[in-house]
Amino acid sequence: MQATLIQLTANRSQRLTAALAAAVLLCTMAMVWPYSTVQASAVLPFMPIFATSVVIAEGLTAYFLATQYRISGRFVFAVLASAYAFTSVAAAAHLAVYPGVFSASGLFHTGRQTAIWIWLLWRGAFALFVMLALAIRSRPPIGSHDGRRWRGALAMGGSIAGSIALCAAAGAAHDRLPNLVASAGPYRHLSANPAIVSVALMCIAALAVHAYVTRLRTLMDLWLAVALLAGVVDIVLTLGAGARYSVGWYAARIASMVSANALLGMLVSETSRTYLRLADAHRTLQALSVRDGLTGVFNRAYFDERYPRELTLARAAGYPLSILLVDVDHFKDYNDALGHLAGDECLRRIAHTLAASLTRQTDFVARYGGEEFAVVLPACDPRVGASTAERLRQAVADMKLPGPSEKTPYVTISIGHASSRSHADLQGATLLAGADAALYAAKASGRNRVEHEQAG
Ligand code: GH3
Ligand code: MG
Ligand code: MG
Repeated sequence: MQATLIQLTANRSQRLTAALAAAVLLCTMAMVWPYSTVQASAVLPFMPIFATSVVIAEGLTAYFLATQYRISGRFVFAVLASAYAFTSVAAAAHLAVYPGVFSASGLFHTGRQTAIWIWLLWRGAFALFVMLALAIRSRPPIGSHDGRRWRGALAMGGSIAGSIALCAAAGAAHDRLPNLVASAGPYRHLSANPAIVSVALMCIAALAVHAYVTRLRTLMDLWLAVALLAGVVDIVLTLGAGARYSVGWYAARIASMVSANALLGMLVSETSRTYLRLADAHRTLQALSVRDGLTGVFNRAYFDERYPRELTLARAAGYPLSILLVDVDHFKDYNDALGHLAGDECLRRIAHTLAASLTRQTDFVARYGGEEFAVVLPACDPRVGASTAERLRQAVADMKLPGPSEKTPYVTISIGHASSRSHADLQGATLLAGADAALYAAKASGRNRVEHEQAG
């Protein structure tokens, strides 16, 4: 199962979804363009709602990408996380200084055109970060887990500090920066300005280079391209819009929201899918971890954990418990005569027969070690314990597996059985010792038999 998202190749339907998103963006732009200068009514809460959603979406994307960096060690993720951290802060600053939101001229008395300069910084810096990510994309993973944490924090912290510093500088220098917005508020002079044209070209170039270098093979590349495209649509419509609160201006803000949410949508959806796969893998691993690799019955670790639990339950509920220790007779001779591979197969078949011969759901068989098995029979008194032991012995004898020599023509097992009779008997070690002694007696008295030892 893949833990990072950078190598996740986009499948056909994911490509189609992204292509559809891109087509909707371009069609909307084409449809809106002729009406972009038409003045709509000024919905004052629109700007704070839009900007807040962008700040949150870009902040969350930065967080997800930083986690991807910590998992994978690929610095490209740290760079992209820094890009989103930068733009999240810039979007917050943009809102703060936007005229008419917190005050008529925006907070900090930075002048009417500071918001548009911050918007340019936001779009321009994002394009530059994407180009940087493309340049270092093939670098191998770096750093230990702790090293990645510090490097990631430094990159994000640096980009947040850089964003704050540049936004503050844009505010402080508002008198000296070229005037991008006509005094009455319309954007009519925007497209003529070289700063805006350069940023627009940078965004288009970032999109083109990104598509060329990555070939949009992975999900990450695909949705980053959609984000870049939405950013370009934002710029084009903003340039086409005659003024704030015009049709083009509203459409540009919506494109900007699409740009902020494109990668986030993919990251949230893929993180959930990864989590579901993780839960499945965990369940499978958990099921495998309690099984013996050779025979498929429970392993010794499971027995060591479950047997005391069954004893506690039996003590609490006041019911008896029986245990059987099963040992294959003359198994060394079997291996010597037929080989270890045949020995393994023989153990598998015996284990399968033992497990299949248990009828109650609470009974279980575990490989105790080598060619020995332990069978735990909760809520089982000495009489039923003895009959179960005899049934198991008979089931193995009935398999008539060819034995190692004429003296032992068929494979057989010996069983030591111990059952608790009173509450005081329910000591795990005592019961096991009783079953072990009974098994020893079964071996001593000729094998292929059940002997009983009742503790207490
Ligand atoms: P007894 O009737 O007294 O139990 O004789 P035995 O030969 O079965 O007893 P012993 O303890 O001398 O030998 C057990 C053998 O079981 C030795 C070992 O090679 C074999 N054995 C243990 N684990 C495995 C296994 O996973 N695969 C195979 N093929 N043999 C195993
Ligand atoms: Mg043995
Ligand atoms: Mg044996």
